[in-house]
Amino acid sequence: MATELNYVIGPYIEIIGKHTKSISKVRRVCPEHSKFEATGNFCRICGAALENLSTIQERPISLQQFIWEKFEDDDSLFACDDINVILPNHRPPGKISLDRLTDLTNCQEIINKQLDWFRQEYENHIKVIEETFGRDKTILGWGITSYYC
Ligand SMILES: [Zn+2]
Repeated sequence: MATELNYVIGPYIEIIGKHTKSISKVRRVCPEHSKFEATGNFCRICGAALENLSTIQERPISLQQFIWEKFEDDDSLFACDDINVILPNHRPPGKISLDRLTDLTNCQEIINKQLDWFRQEYENHIKVIEETFGRDKTILGWGITSYYC
């Protein structure tokens, strides 16, 4: 499978820091032999009554996984997990295409237009993302994102 470097020019959301969620798990264990996998009511080794042991694990959240779970069949966003960036799948108004030479000195108007579009079009998504990761950890920006696929 060939990997290719792709570029997207436009609005993005960057998530700062590590994203984990706590998952609690309950295991059945013998107080003396807790390293062993146990099921039922009694320990297979010593016959003692098994107890419930709950542990909390911090699991990393994949942004793509988060999008799938949170927005279900909605494919209007996608994530570049390796750089913690979420991108719109819909094309913003006004197109800037990267050529071998691209003049970017005059595109402030397009940048503003695309950021406004992003804030409006994705208002609900952005709200959910900010609530999940924290407003201070969610940066709405505009730029060139590159990713492999
Ligand atoms: Zn035991």
